[in-house]
Amino acid sequence: MNPPRFAIIGAGMSGILSAIKLAEAGLTDFTIYEKADRLGGTWRENTYPGVACDVPSHLYSYSFAPNPDWSHHFAPGGEIQAYFEDVARRYAVEKAIRFGDEVKRCAFTDGRWHLETASGHRSEADFVIGATGVLHHPSYPDIEGLQTFAGACFHSARWDHDVPLEDRRVGIIGTGSSAVQIVSAVIDRVAHLSLFQRTAQWIMPQQNPTYTEEERTRFRERPGEMHELRRQISELFADAFSNAVVDAESPQMKLIEDLCRANLEENVSDPVLREQLRPDYRAACKRLVVSPDFYQAIQKPGAELVTEGIERIEPAGVRTRDGRLRELDVLVLATGFRVDRFLRPMEVVGPDGLRLDDVWAERPAAYLSVSIPGFPNLFLLNGPNGPVGNFSLIEVAELQFTYILQLVDLVRTGKCRRISAARQALEKFDAERVEAAKKTVWTTGCHSWYLDDRGVPAAWPWTFTRFREVMTRPDLRAFELR
Ligand code: NAP
Repeated sequence: MNPPRFAIIGAGMSGILSAIKLAEAGLTDFTIYEKADRLGGTWRENTYPGVACDVPSHLYSYSFAPNPDWSHHFAPGGEIQAYFEDVARRYAVEKAIRFGDEVKRCAFTDGRWHLETASGHRSEADFVIGATGVLHHPSYPDIEGLQTFAGACFHSARWDHDVPLEDRRVGIIGTGSSAVQIVSAVIDRVAHLSLFQRTAQWIMPQQNPTYTEEERTRFRERPGEMHELRRQISELFADAFSNAVVDAESPQMKLIEDLCRANLEENVSDPVLREQLRPDYRAACKRLVVSPDFYQAIQKPGAELVTEGIERIEPAGVRTRDGRLRELDVLVLATGFRVDRFLRPMEVVGPDGLRLDDVWAERPAAYLSVSIPGFPNLFLLNGPNGPVGNFSLIEVAELQFTYILQLVDLVRTGKCRRISAARQALEKFDAERVEAAKKTVWTTGCHSWYLDDRGVPAAWPWTFTRFREVMTRPDLRAFELR
């Protein structure tokens, strides 16, 4: 094969990673297609006050580009965005990005992928890498009257920085990770804050100290220490959290529950509020929310937790089912994301006219989260059924890319011209995944974005250790080579 051409869809964390890793492998013919006018994905889109990552900074960095300058143990979003921009610059990725043009269609004909963008630009590629992210299609609540609200109203991932919050009456719908960070960040600026809670959340207390100047200098001067720190954090994160949530009865899971319970008991003094904030399901059943100060924030004089259900939204504010109207100037919809989109809304058509929309009509699925039967030479980073929510997605994408590159090599070296997962392999993987999910804490009685339309967790239900092992080398019996 001539030097293969790659189309990378998305210039977020995994698209940038793909470009760097392809170039490192000597595969320099690639274009990154990015619908926005800036790279960064999640970190470009989420700019709400208080946005930060709850995976430790030194783990939420590429293994090949450690950052001695992280300001905090858990980095603020703006710093993460700057990190990706800096890495992209250092590895000369930006020149390969086609900004502001969304890929609308991607069809496999005559042995190649044919891409078409919103502007009508057409191109071809031998391989497509889907690096489209997971949590970025905002989910808007279906609440009567939402459009009639007279004040400013926006989704947490579409923050309108032109809207002042100072001395305003602010309402926030939702109690997930985004809402909790927003509450702590804005409570001292607003006149009054109403947090509309449909479901209470367990909060993992986690302080976020800064790295001292001495520590940062040491990281800079002795990069070995930084690598060792990353290794230690990775092990600790896997043992204490990632591997714990997939075994609901594990001692580490019990420890997480004890910490969350103690956080609530010790930090919320009013017994009525404490019970309103107490979830009726197990900690980490929903994606665990991490915060050092949410309970302090919601007990401040200007804050109010509203547990009465929302009846409708009116021009003046939010009316709850008890008939009470909370008058508001600003309404924030921290209502999460549509997590079943992946490559879509792009139209993906495989050989013989096979349409991804039809294949995924019930729910999205991918063998080991990277390959879809019937769609050759197309690979996904952080696709369906992968480890999401309880791992560092950077570590996940790096492992997946190593795996994908081995599949690409089979085509490059002439072992085959097309490769994709076999149908039976996906069916077997799916059946084992659904069975294994029964042991996870995600199935212990809550509603969450981890669950698919059947109530089955869509995420990787095994340990991170197992994921690492599986990603080491593809088992070619699971693939169709043509
Ligand atoms: P989320 O966890 O999906 O939370 C959405 C919230 O909106 C929930 O409290 C949900 O209530 C509520 N909601 C949705 N529709 C509603 C309606 N019609 N009426 C009332 N309430 C409604 O979304 P998120 O907070 O944006 O977080 C999404 C994921 O992004 C997180 O789980 C995490 O993986 C990631 N994230 C991470 C960080 C971090 O690293 N610190 C920060 C932000 C996000 P119910 O619970 O009742 O459904």
